[in-house]
Amino acid sequence: MKCCLAVFVLGSIGILFSNDSSSLPNDIRWVRQSGEYKELCMQVYRQAWYQVNRQAGSSGTKLAIVVDLDETILDNSLYQVGRWRKGLGFTQESWSKWVNQKEAGLVPGAKVFLEKTRNLGVTIVFMSNRMHHNLQPTIENLKELSVWQKEDLFLLREDKQDTKDIRRKEVLEGTGRMKKVGPLKVLAYLGDQVGDFPDKSGEVFGVNQFLLPNPTYGKW
Ligand SMILES: [Mg+2]
Repeated sequence: MKCCLAVFVLGSIGILFSNDSSSLPNDIRWVRQSGEYKELCMQVYRQAWYQVNRQAGSSGTKLAIVVDLDETILDNSLYQVGRWRKGLGFTQESWSKWVNQKEAGLVPGAKVFLEKTRNLGVTIVFMSNRMHHNLQPTIENLKELSVWQKEDLFLLREDKQDTKDIRRKEVLEGTGRMKKVGPLKVLAYLGDQVGDFPDKSGEVFGVNQFLLPNPTYGKW
């Protein structure tokens, strides 16, 4: 009995040590613990605010910013931790479950940036590849983080064919899902993946496209 207990205790200690945050893979640990990640995000949001504030009011048309959600506004590193602890990777099923748990945190700098941008009268268009059927838990998660306003617009993904290119066109032209809203002038795009941006050339990053750091996943 004593022997079994000793094995159990030692095993538990082993699990504790192997799963503590210091042994997380570097990419997840960097996001969750480093000052560098936090400051980089704050830097990107500061730069985005500088450009949005500078341009707002310079146009008679309705103004907007187009903002991705995951790893741009919402921090899903806890999902990554959970999957890593189980020795598993991304699956659509586990992701959907996570989205419905509504436990994502906030990317540093995002909340203040959104508040200040809304105060300029600029519309926030959340454009995410989260599936449209997950809109409700997504909004509830944003509400819990105090980064949702009823004027915000959401263009989530209807199906596989519903690319961000299609949705960006709807925003600019006021067509499809944006017909009632009408055309919007987009002052800035924010995201963590190249696919979040209309111009992939690199010339406009830091000007009207703002890229947040995400070392944990992407189409590399
Ligand atoms: Mg993203």
